[in-house]
Amino acid sequence: MKVMKFGGTSVGKPERMHEVAQLITKDNTQKIVVLSALSGTTNALVEISNHLAAGDRRAAENRIDLLLEHYKNFIQQLVVTEACRTKANAVIAEHFEFLRIILRISFSEALNKDILAQGELMSTKLFCVYLEEKGIDHALLPALEFMLIDANEEPQLDMIKVKLAEQLKLHSDKKILVTQGYICRNARGEVDNLKRGGSDYTASLVAAASHATVCEIWTDIDGMHNNDPRVVSKTVAIEQLSFDEAAELAYFGAKILHPTCIWPAQQENVPVRLLNTMQPDAPGTVITKEAGSVGVKAVAAKDGIIAIKIKSSRMLLAYGFLRKVFEVFEKYKTSIDMITTSEVAVSVTIDNDHFLAQIVKELEPFGTVDIEKKQTIVSIVGNEIAQTEHVLQLLFDALRDVPVTMVSYGGSPHNISLLVPGSEKNKTLQLLNSGLFGL
Ligand code: ASP
Ligand code: MG
Repeated sequence: MKVMKFGGTSVGKPERMHEVAQLITKDNTQKIVVLSALSGTTNALVEISNHLAAGDRRAAENRIDLLLEHYKNFIQQLVVTEACRTKANAVIAEHFEFLRIILRISFSEALNKDILAQGELMSTKLFCVYLEEKGIDHALLPALEFMLIDANEEPQLDMIKVKLAEQLKLHSDKKILVTQGYICRNARGEVDNLKRGGSDYTASLVAAASHATVCEIWTDIDGMHNNDPRVVSKTVAIEQLSFDEAAELAYFGAKILHPTCIWPAQQENVPVRLLNTMQPDAPGTVITKEAGSVGVKAVAAKDGIIAIKIKSSRMLLAYGFLRKVFEVFEKYKTSIDMITTSEVAVSVTIDNDHFLAQIVKELEPFGTVDIEKKQTIVSIVGNEIAQTEHVLQLLFDALRDVPVTMVSYGGSPHNISLLVPGSEKNKTLQLLNSGLFGL
């Protein structure tokens, strides 16, 4: 079994969908094909939902009309036979009828999730109509039958294994099984989702649950790059990464992969391949148990970071101080990304300000609290970095003119993190590109 996931842009135009059909029929292995919604659709559905939540039915209706137009045009180019056009039209008619009905009922969070699910439901059904037109044997596996999350919104991998196996058994004669990314059922049995960008997560969960030989994530860039291509002019695709390195990179800002999507594949040791639909023969990036090589592989940046510094002379020679500080963050379910301590101060970073005011209030009895907003974490990721020769020297040489405010080194053998003001991010990434990679 092989899993192949195609993101929104890979199915966002009729001709791209045609290419996907070619890619999945290149070899004869049995495969589960996970599809996102057509690019732009989930955003449109979010807008519709927001209009409804705000009580603006007219705006919601206008957005629905616009989306329908898009799908009508899409179908015209997707399929050519009268029979398949009729089928494709029936698919969109059904889902847009649902969208019209919601205009008349009261809005709720459960309804919001139903609305957001329409994109993946339509993309997979339309793709199946196209496969049918091409005479490509396949079956549609309804993700809502096997993708389950618990009351904490965590995927239930054990249940997914059982339920997916049941679905696969129903179609054991089929080589191509198409399913929806992103959508799932929650503990209450309602339609839910794995959060924005969650189709990668679906793919990894499905790959783990079916013990796939590989989980291929097809996007529009040729793998994970050593630096942010939007900020630096010369970047290269990374050949191989370990699961741990990939998780750090995805978390610290590499947009190509959803950060949560590593653990299921890692747990079942299924290699993940990042491939490019535009250049299907490019090697892309492979993520495996082994790192492949030692040394720095990439840098990534995460914006919108808030630094909190707690300074207290009472911390001097005291024990239990850190626990008290951490308990405040725990109470407000706010996770800490970086931490550095000195004898009289501790600095931490968080990536959201939802409870910042409350957190600061509760920290104040411990000492002086300073807040620095709009910071960026720049992460240097690689394998056994600490053992890499001269790495710190290269790093600090490169950043001679950058006001680095925090450094976290040694927490993991895969990562060195620096905190810089957001305004220094581009410069930092550019300097590191030449300083660490010679690019
Ligand atoms: N369609 C969803 C989104 O745009 C899920 C995904 O594409 O991964 O967030
Ligand atoms: Mg995506």
